[in-house]
Amino acid sequence: MPDAWLAAVPGVREHEPLSPHSWYGIGGRARYFVALEDDAGLAELIGRLAAERVPYLVIGAATNTLFAAEELPGLTIKLATSRLTIDGSQVTVSAGYLMPKLAADTARKGRTGLEFGAGVPGMVGGSVVGNAGAFGREVKDGLLSTEVIDPQGHVHTLSAAECHFAYRESSLKSDKPGWVVRSATFATGEDDPSRIRARIKEVQGHRRQTQPIEKRSLGSTFKNPPGDAAGRLIDACGLKGRRIGGAQISEKHANFIVNLGGASADDVLALMAEMRNRVFERFGIELEPEVRVIGRTAGQ
Ligand SMILES: Cc1cc2nc3c(=O)[nH]c(=O)nc-3n(C[C@H](O)[C@H](O)[C@H](O)COP(=O)(O)OP(=O)(O)OC[C@H]3O[C@@H](n4cnc5c(N)ncnc54)[C@H](O)[C@@H]3O)c2cc1C
Repeated sequence: MPDAWLAAVPGVREHEPLSPHSWYGIGGRARYFVALEDDAGLAELIGRLAAERVPYLVIGAATNTLFAAEELPGLTIKLATSRLTIDGSQVTVSAGYLMPKLAADTARKGRTGLEFGAGVPGMVGGSVVGNAGAFGREVKDGLLSTEVIDPQGHVHTLSAAECHFAYRESSLKSDKPGWVVRSATFATGEDDPSRIRARIKEVQGHRRQTQPIEKRSLGSTFKNPPGDAAGRLIDACGLKGRRIGGAQISEKHANFIVNLGGASADDVLALMAEMRNRVFERFGIELEPEVRVIGRTAGQ
């Protein structure tokens, strides 16, 4: 069997259900799956996968990812690494660290600049790739550099300029398929921990008021088109509350699709297609998905 070596990698499981690894609670299976708390052997593993032509997908908390394939081929790697080093103003954090935990842990040490992480429920790796942001601040505003692994298994340090960050975009997302973020280094400022915590509370309070965080979702379904808000356009089409199967366009925020329980990837994709079509018919604007659909094309 060509993948026999893969099945023998420590921790690798076969035919792993992905819904427990999905924030949305939706997913088929992964042919092979491994959760890594230690990334020491990751570069070697990536190099071997590429050499053996085995496809792979790296995920974090899957708060931005819809698993839409019945079975994902190759290896799905979930990074659950949790290193954090604070050296003066520089904060270096592994890809598998949760953004809200990063915000809380740096606040405790009197480091400011990462409070926005309290509004991003995913991990650092996915947040670097997608230049995640909340409440006026994005990854790009503080990132100094990121340590990445290319598909040949070589480790590089990319400066923020080399990441070509833009709104929910980076060169890692658009031009470097198969590159893996291992860690990120941020510049931070100094402030009183209680003041930083107060700002985190503000971020959390705003989220509670504006987003359906009590239900499972993937956050914003579509990017905001220039000068407008996807939620406003979808709401103007009268789509709030529209339901297909177990998926519903949130009554609270029209750019969120919530899983009421038992939603399938098909339900979510059908709602996404309807949102795109209705907004295009009414406004002539093509909405671009912010969520990553794995295994199928978004909007179909
Ligand atoms: C309720 C809710 C609110 C949200 N609010 C916001 C918000 O305010 N702002 C915002 O920007 N986002 C928001 N999101 C979306 C999401 O939290 C962010 O996009 C987050 O950065 C994704 O991190 P993740 O670990 O979940 O990534 P995943 O969903 O696991 O992965 C996202 C993509 O990145 C890739 N990837 C993941 N880790 C790595 C890695 N280490 N190396 C290379 N590629 C990798 C994956 O293959 C995938 O393509 C929200 C989501 C939810 C559910």
